[in-house]
Parts: sequence; C-alpha cells; structure tokens
Amino acid sequence: MQLTIEKAKTLKAKPTDESKLGFGNIFTDHMLTVVYSPEEGWHDAKIEPYHAFQMDPAGMVLHYGQTIFEGLKAYRCKDGKIRLFRPEQNFMRMNRSAERLCIPQIDVDFMVDALKKLVELEQDWVPSTPGTSLYIRPTIIASDPHLGVRASNHYIFYIILSPVGAYYATGLDPVPIYVEDNYVRAVRGGTGAAKTAANYAASLLAGEEAKKLGYSQVLWLDGVEKKYVEEVGSMNIFFRFNDEVTTPALVGSILPGITRMSVLQLAQDMGYKTTERRISIEEVFDRYDKGELLEVFGTGTAAVISPVGELKWKDRVIKIGDGTTGELSQKLYDTLTGIQYGELPDNHGWIT
Ligand code: PMP
Repeated sequence: MQLTIEKAKTLKAKPTDESKLGFGNIFTDHMLTVVYSPEEGWHDAKIEPYHAFQMDPAGMVLHYGQTIFEGLKAYRCKDGKIRLFRPEQNFMRMNRSAERLCIPQIDVDFMVDALKKLVELEQDWVPSTPGTSLYIRPTIIASDPHLGVRASNHYIFYIILSPVGAYYATGLDPVPIYVEDNYVRAVRGGTGAAKTAANYAASLLAGEEAKKLGYSQVLWLDGVEKKYVEEVGSMNIFFRFNDEVTTPALVGSILPGITRMSVLQLAQDMGYKTTERRISIEEVFDRYDKGELLEVFGTGTAAVISPVGELKWKDRVIKIGDGTTGELSQKLYDTLTGIQYGELPDNHGWIT
C-alpha cells in the first residue's frame, strides 16, 4: 500500500507551557487515515491535515459501537532521538480487538512504518519536559450508513496525536481506589479483553459514583461472583505480597496491558517471583491483616506506574504502605521510564 503525504498549509500554535498540557486536550497538525472497503481492502493511506470527519448520522459506529482503539506514546529523549515503546504490540493487540469486533485485520508492519512517518513529520510536537510525551491514538470506526445490527462493510482507520503530561495530576503519589461491588465491567466471553468503546462506556457510572466518595478510580471484580480482582479503569493491577509480585491472570475479561507484560518482565529481572493468577479480594484484605501486603500499583501507558495508597471494599478501608510511593513502584517507574526515555539500556529490544 502506498502512503501519500499532504502537509498542512498553516500550522497550529504549539503549547508554550508544557506543565499545563494535561491529558488528551491538544491535537497536532496532521493525522493518518486509511479506509477499508470489501472490494479494495485497506487502501488510500494518507497523512493529511488534522480535520473533522463528515459522518452520516446513520454511521454504524454511532449506533452499535463497532469501534476499537489503541494507546501508546512517543518519548523525546536527551540524546535528541524520539523513541516508541513496543509499537508493534499495540497493533498486534488492535488485531486481536478487531477479531472480537468483526473488524478486518490490519497490516502491523505497514502501520508501524506509517506511524513512524507521522511522528517524524510531527516531531516538533513531542514535548521535552520530564514526564511529558506524545500520546498516540490509533482508532478504527465502522462507517456504513445503516440501521440494523450487523458488522459494517466499510471502516476508517486513523491515528491522531496529542502532546500530554501526567495522566493523574497527582503523578507518582499514591491514589485511593474503590473496589466496585455493585456494577461489573466485563464477563468472560464478553469484550473485556478488547480495547473497545463499550467497555469504557460501561465503566462510567461506577467511576462517577466512586469520585463522589473521594476515590480516583474503581477496581473491578469479576463479573460473575464479584470475588476475583480484575483491573482498574485504564490500568492493570499488581500486588506485592512479600516477595511475590502478582497480577490477575488474563482470563478473557481483562485487557492484556503492554505495560503489564513489560512490568512482569522487569520485576522478574529484579529478582522477584512473578505470578499471573486468580487473586480474590478476600486474599488481598487477609494478607493485609497478616502484614504481607506490601504494595499495590496500577500499570498502563497513560499512567505508567500508579501506586495505590488506599482500597475501600464494602465497609472496610485499608491504607497500603506509609502514604509515600513504595520501593518496588518507584524502582519499576524509574526502570520503565529509563528505558522509554533512552537513559537505560534496552535489554529486551522494546524500543523503536
Ligand atoms: N486496562 C484497561 C481497561 C486500559 O484501558 C488500559 C490502557 N490501555 C490498560 C489496562 C493498560 O494497558 P497498556 O499497558 O497497554 O496501556
């Protein structure tokens, strides 16, 4: 497939104060689009000026939510290079999401290459203040104008870019998390393992209610028994029980995080015993009572490592650690960001 490039005639003003970037508010000058039709497959790949889509009000994505997305980052490094972290993993996961949502597969190598060209063109938008990066959002939407539930025949793939600061305003400070005991996010056999809009829509009400109680996000339990820990809103969750570093097994209702996969490797490199298994919420509270729950943290592209300082489950509240960032959370944060920003050796070949 050919990639054509049409440059914007006028460029937007770049943010002057990188400490005020926030997350997902500002978009760059260009975007990548590729369209799909049954006759031509994926075709017409273009880097073009950022623009609004014209969409038929009957566009299927608007009604039946047939859409998937990804999230990754480009990092500006002190050696002047811009690095991507495991981008092929994001497009591979996008293909797994596509399969679940009846969306045609994309060519991973083509997309990584096209993304590199897009980021190269937009390199002046990659911020340089420590902790900032260029967030990358690949998306696919179903575009047939049609009412009636079926898979669409036509799709639009696009990538937009957004210079970002920290996802949580609190940075590495521990956050309080509400263990959700009423609503559920996903069930085995459902779409929980796919990065699709419906999972996030399903999570909103619980998130709003938790916020009113002073919690920053919810921790989801399994959708059947509400017994086993699954994941947090936009992060996977890890527990350190003494020297075991553990995270819920990928049972089909959890998003297989790329940060999760990387943190399991890094914790193993550091000499911890890492496990992926079923973890009941009772176990978490029991081990806390026994003094064996040393750290809890979330992992994700946006949040990197996010220590959890408090968990509320039913009428119990536990405070983890001493209110500061735990030793392992800090070590993992330093190692992961060290690799991403090119300051530590890339021993696993994760950098493009
Ligand atoms: N779970 C959910 C529901 C998410 O949205 C994300 C963010 N993509 C994650 C976990 C973490 O995944 P990753 O490490 O690939 O960003």
